Amino acid sequence: MEKLWTVTIVSDRYPAPGPMALRCSEPGCRPERVPLPSPSAARTAAAGHLATHGHRAGALRADAACGCGGVAESRVITHAEAGRVWHLAVLCVPCIRATPDARVLRPLNVRNVRRGLP
Ligand SMILES: [Zn+2]
Ligand SMILES: [Zn+2]
Repeated sequence: MEKLWTVTIVSDRYPAPGPMALRCSEPGCRPERVPLPSPSAARTAAAGHLATHGHRAGALRADAACGCGGVAESRVITHAEAGRVWHLAVLCVPCIRATPDARVLRPLNVRNVRRGLP
């Protein structure tokens, strides 16, 4: 089973602007405390944190399965609860199409990244 992550934006008075932090489902993972001045900044940080986990996990396994039982196609970032809860899931193509606002996580092109190094 492909590993999934959930990041929750925690705040005293969400979605009112105020101190916000990210809570990650990965045991021991404490997302860096960065200024999150607005709900949109918090959402960007949550999606970025999930993307980091997804990229660190490497290529999707060929036998990765979608929750519906289909063959998973990609890692996808989705959100729920008005953008307060973010998930990284592996989904098959029909499920990606059926998920509003699904963001497919593109694999990093490692060669291009290396070329940029001195
Ligand atoms: Zn994390
Ligand atoms: Zn599916």
